[in-house]
Amino acid sequence: MKFTIGWLYADLMNIYGDRGNILTLLRRAEWHGLESSVVELGRGATSQMDGVDVFFFGGGQDREQALIYDDLRDFKHESLQKAVADGAQVLAVCGGYQLLGHYYQTGDGERYDGIGLIDVRTEAGKKRFIGDVIVQTALEGLAPSTLVGFENHSGRTFLGPNAKPLGTVLKGHGNNGSDHHEGCIQGGVIGTYMHGSLLPKNPQLADHLIAAALRRRGGGALSHLDDSLELAAHDWILQRAQRR
Ligand code: GLN
Repeated sequence: MKFTIGWLYADLMNIYGDRGNILTLLRRAEWHGLESSVVELGRGATSQMDGVDVFFFGGGQDREQALIYDDLRDFKHESLQKAVADGAQVLAVCGGYQLLGHYYQTGDGERYDGIGLIDVRTEAGKKRFIGDVIVQTALEGLAPSTLVGFENHSGRTFLGPNAKPLGTVLKGHGNNGSDHHEGCIQGGVIGTYMHGSLLPKNPQLADHLIAAALRRRGGGALSHLDDSLELAAHDWILQRAQRR
């Protein structure tokens, strides 16, 4: 079975190791016996959005977000919405997460309109939130039920009624440093502030995305993989956070 990853703005929205999420999805899909490939979805019109199973949208500084938010609205919005309605999954990190929402407002008061694929809004605060993040996730069936990552953002994100938190913050700031929530889940879209990169140290989330995306094509349960190395890295971050 083929498995296709769609990498949005790989050249501009790709910081703090985000590329590691692509490598993890590619490799794990292969280890699960799938024929995996990645298509880069840069600026401009593209016909390559169809047939994508998992879209990845990385983070970026305000400057990069300013370079792509128009393109996202004009050339990607419609096909992304259609793909998600058809069962494709999306993982969006930080700057990408923000632009899938209603808007991102910078510290200078500039507003970048988002596409409203998820019911969230973001406004930059004065202090940047930087450091390790540990989250107790609400996603069912994930083992371990913790997610670990690294955050570095000025944006404070607030969820509307249609978006649910990805989890509760055990360590770090998360969405806005006040409501103890991190990220969001809405349909097949997962948004998070966790860079690092996220998936290498959270293989259970990578498999969740792969399995969910294949369900629409009759794909069943994934084979069990030996994740001892990945989970050792996960546990190491948990212990480091507790030590600090
Ligand atoms: N520019 C956004 C912010 O500062 C996103 C940063 C990022 O992707 N790490 O909040």
